[in-house]
Amino acid sequence: MTETSPAIEGWFTTGPEPALVGSRCTTCASTFFPRTQGFCRNPACDGEEFADTPLSRRGRVWSYTDAQYQPPPPYIPAVNPYAPFALAAVELPEGIVVLGQVAQGYGVADLAVGREVELVVEVLHTDESGERTIWRWKPVAELGEETDQ
Ligand SMILES: [Zn+2]
Repeated sequence: MTETSPAIEGWFTTGPEPALVGSRCTTCASTFFPRTQGFCRNPACDGEEFADTPLSRRGRVWSYTDAQYQPPPPYIPAVNPYAPFALAAVELPEGIVVLGQVAQGYGVADLAVGREVELVVEVLHTDESGERTIWRWKPVAELGEETDQ
């Protein structure tokens, strides 16, 4: 019996429109990812309560790189030996930057600072109990642009 489940529990939702799950301070409405608790990281706020909130599914590339090294956890190498892939830091409308791999089939050639990307959930690796999934950033085709290459 195998099942598909997130590689890290509680960081994102799955389904047709997956979204990262962040924490919104109930005092100042600042949003954080990954989720936080305890005290608000906004130095001007003394809030201590947070509500889970789904983050925007689209953002814009803030920075990107080819990962020629193996990233730290929660990234688990999908193949052995390690195969480089593209990483994008994406700024969401909430004002936070979220790092993620770039969706399967895309690389740095598909990225540019300011390019719109959309969150997708893909299989990170498969173990004896099933598939483990992770969020990735997929470049959004822009008007007038060739999508095949
Ligand atoms: Zn706050």
